[in-house]
Amino acid sequence: MKSILKCESCGRYTMKEACLCGKKALTPKPAKFSIEDKYGNYRRKAKFSFFREKGLL
Ligand SMILES: [Zn+2]
Repeated sequence: MKSILKCESCGRYTMKEACLCGKKALTPKPAKFSIEDKYGNYRRKAKFSFFREKGLL
């Protein structure tokens, strides 16, 4: 499956490896914000409070 690419030179989105401006288009960098990290952190906190309630910590 082809993913959309972004030209880092002109910022244009394209499906082709070569942008219309002649530069190479690259896969856009993933966003810094990660949903998985957010929920992973939430789960760790939930687990911690679970043990705390049970008097295991
Ligand atoms: Zn371009």
